[in-house]
This record gives sequence, C-alpha cells and structure tokens, in this order.
Amino acid sequence: MKSYDAVIVGGGASGIVAAIFGKRKGASVLLCEKMPKLGKKLLVTGAGRCNLLNEKLDASFYNPEARKLVQAVLEKCGRDAILGFFRDLGLRVYTDETGRIFPVTQQAASVLKVLELEMARLEVPVKLNCEVRDIRAVAGAFEIRTANEERFISPKVIVCAGGKSYPALGADGSAYGLVRKFGHAVTEPVPCAVPLLAKDSWCHFLQGQKIRAKVAARVDGKPACDAAGELLFTQYGLSGTAILDVSREVSIAVNRDGKKNVCVAADLIPFMGDAELQKEFERRLEKKFSGEDLLEGLLPHKFSLVFREKLLKEDVPALVKALKHKEFKVNGTRGWNEAEFTAGGVPSEEVDPPTLESKRQKGLYLAGEILDVQGPRGGYNLAWAWASGAVTGASI
Ligand SMILES: Cc1cc2nc3c(=O)[nH]c(=O)nc-3n(C[C@H](O)[C@H](O)[C@H](O)COP(=O)(O)OP(=O)(O)OC[C@H]3O[C@@H](n4cnc5c(N)ncnc54)[C@H](O)[C@@H]3O)c2cc1C
Repeated sequence: MKSYDAVIVGGGASGIVAAIFGKRKGASVLLCEKMPKLGKKLLVTGAGRCNLLNEKLDASFYNPEARKLVQAVLEKCGRDAILGFFRDLGLRVYTDETGRIFPVTQQAASVLKVLELEMARLEVPVKLNCEVRDIRAVAGAFEIRTANEERFISPKVIVCAGGKSYPALGADGSAYGLVRKFGHAVTEPVPCAVPLLAKDSWCHFLQGQKIRAKVAARVDGKPACDAAGELLFTQYGLSGTAILDVSREVSIAVNRDGKKNVCVAADLIPFMGDAELQKEFERRLEKKFSGEDLLEGLLPHKFSLVFREKLLKEDVPALVKALKHKEFKVNGTRGWNEAEFTAGGVPSEEVDPPTLESKRQKGLYLAGEILDVQGPRGGYNLAWAWASGAVTGASI
C-alpha cells in the first residue's frame, strides 16, 4: 500500500491549494479527484470569468456562526496573501467597481491553468477518476480506500470534497459520509444563490422581464435580509442577482426550517420614493396620459398588462403600493443544479482554528465548502476555499 504524508480528498479550489501548500512545505501529498479532470467547478465560476476574490474580504461577510473560524483563517491567509499567491503564479487580476476581483484574461481557465502549472512544477501526484469511498483510522494513521479498490496510507487526510451544488461537476454531498463516521455532525445542507419558487400571476405574465429592483426577504413577518440588483421574472417564480443574494436566508427558512410564511417584498421602482412616484403619476394624469401609458418610461411596457386594471381605474395610491411594496409568497427554491453554493455541512466549531484540524479525529482536516461556511456572492466563497486550503496544506 503506497504511503504519503497527507492524502487530499477532492481536487477543486480548496484541494488544489492545499496540495500546493503541503508540497511547498516538503510533505509528500497525494491529491485524489473523483472526476476525470481537476477543478471542473472552478471553470464555471463567475459565468466562466471566475470572480476569485473580493477587495473587501473580511470575516464579517460570512455566516455569523462561522465568523470566528473565518477570522482566524483570514489572519493567516487573507486578501493580500491570496492576491500574492496568485501573482506569484503569474495570474494578473483586476478589480471591478464593486470590489469583485477577476483574472485580467476574464477566463476562469486561466486561474485553473496557473494552479495546474504550479502543481506540475512541484510534481504533486494527482489521481483522477479516483473517488475516495472510505477513510479508516488504523494504528495512528488513516487507510484511504477508493472506488477503484486502491488503498493509500497516510497519517493525515484533508477532506476538500465540497458541498452539494452543481453535482454534475463533482461535489454532490456524498463526502459528508466520509467525515460523519468520525463523529462529525452535518448541518442539513440547503441550496444557496438559487432562484426562488413563487406562485404569483405576475411571474407568469412577466416571465422573461428583467428590471433593477430592491428586494427584502421576510420570514414570519420579520425582515431577514435585503438586496438590490436584477430581478428576473420566470415561469416558476423569481431569479436575478437580487434574488440570488437573498436566497440563502430564504432557502434556510423554507428548506431547512420548514417555514411557511416566507415572502420577498419587491420595490420595482427603487429610484423614486413613494411620494415622488405618486406625484409623478398625478403629473402624468394632468398631462392627459391615458391610464395604460402611466408606466411608460418607468418600467418595460409589458408591466402595463399586469397593472391594467389599476391603471385603467387610475387608482394612484394602489398603484404606488403595488409597484413599491409588492409581496411574493415564496413556496420553495430551485434545486442543487441551479445553486452556486451550499449552506450547511460540517459545523465550523468542529474544527480547530486556524489549522482546520478536526476536533473529533486527530490528523483529519477539513477545508472549503464541506464546512458550514458561506459568504455572499462576489468572490467570498472562492476566497474561503483558497484560504482554508492554504492553511490546511501549510499545517500538515
Ligand atoms: C455556477 C457556479 C458559479 C460560482 N461562481 C463563483 C464565483 O464567481 N466566485 C466565488 O467565490 N464562488 C463561486 N462559486 C462557488 C465556488 O465555486 C465554491 O464555493 C468553491 O468551488 C468551493 O470549493 P471546494 O474546493 O470546497 O469545492 P469544489 O470546488 O466543489 O471541489 C470539490 C472537489 O472534490 C471532488 N470530490 C468530491 N467527493 C470526492 C471524493 N469522495 N473523492 C474524490 N474527490 C471528490 C469533486 O469532484 C470536486 O472536484 C460558484 C459556484 C457555482 C456552482
């Protein structure tokens, strides 16, 4: 049976970086990836452009229960360290006006390529099509068994097997079983950055329409979170960046906590206050705009169809209310095939900050999305994958 100083399970963002940092320290590492290629998910990130980091990276952006752990990890490997790591690999990046960081090539493939070149330079052994099926503690080490009946022995294992989103790209949640047997809990994973289901005739009438809006999610009548950005009406409900940005709290409420009273309130004309909009409609009516034309220039024409009745009645206060305080009852989310990341997984308090060594099993480390750590869209989830991969790799 071949032995290594550490075996890394999963060749996505966190696993690749863990392998690089481990090998740079002089450890013999083996990287096992179940797919035929490394980093398949990385290639689709940022719509193929890879939003690899955020200028404002800080622990305060992550889920509250994970912030202590994230803080400890970012102290070891924060924004500047991540930028320095990629610069050293030859990757040049730029920051957009919102703070999101992308490769100058605008291609996720460039990010994967520089990582692969570094792995080749360091001669990191990689086993592809190699799904780890079992990890057993045996006499101060681990025996790692794969689906192809291979076995490896190693005193340390880093599990970087990801969460459940986009299962076709490799991570499908099956790896939670690898760590459960060491006594780890797994908080129920739910899809995040995912479109929402809403049974509302507006969605049907307006499907395909995309506007800029403000949205606020409410659970049991209490504000949960809000966002501004694109709102896209679809056949099944709501999508667009604003919806993806509030979907984590909605998904936890609907999918994990079984809440029934969940809604998203939308302000479809966020660039005007209620009183200002009311005045604008009154001005238009004075100028003899026909009811049907009242919305022209404020919203795409198709919206007149939805508001036809109110427009024809020229009921201005009701129209303002409907446009600025429309509530959509949410009755679910789309599934894992449309979710960018996972909320849930191994609770962050079950690993030691900042090494990410398991508190349940010495020599076992966890990094990346398998842990219950999430940031908002905008580069925070890859930032966590890089940083957590780096600190685990450097700890072995
Ligand atoms: C469409 C999409 C767009 C995204 N865009 C962005 C973005 O622009 N910016 C951002 O910050 N985040 C983005 N994310 C989220 C980000 O990609 C993930 O958070 C990040 O890739 C997690 O890294 P990871 O290493 O933990 O897991 P993954 O990247 O999922 O890697 C896990 C790897 O482990 C392998 N594996 C699983 N089980 C086993 C096993 N038993 N044996 C061997 N191998 C195994 C999998 O095949 C996979 O390659 C996006 C996600 C998606 C789906």
